[in-house]
Amino acid sequence: MAVPKSKITRSRRGMRRSHDSLVGANPNECSNCGELKRPHHVCSACGHYDDREVVAAVEEIDLDEDAA
Ligand SMILES: [Zn+2]
Repeated sequence: MAVPKSKITRSRRGMRRSHDSLVGANPNECSNCGELKRPHHVCSACGHYDDREVVAAVEEIDLDEDAA
């Protein structure tokens, strides 16, 4: 097992952890449906990006093939 050569001071530990904090998401409104979406990502609600549909929206997925 690796053994530290010397004690990390509270100051040094704090300096290392100064970059550890998490930042909150910054969602934008979708220009098509108005739902909140991540910037620079396809809208998860309607599949639009930059005012055009890039992912086809599915009404409902039937997982049970035998029923059909
Ligand atoms: Zn949308």
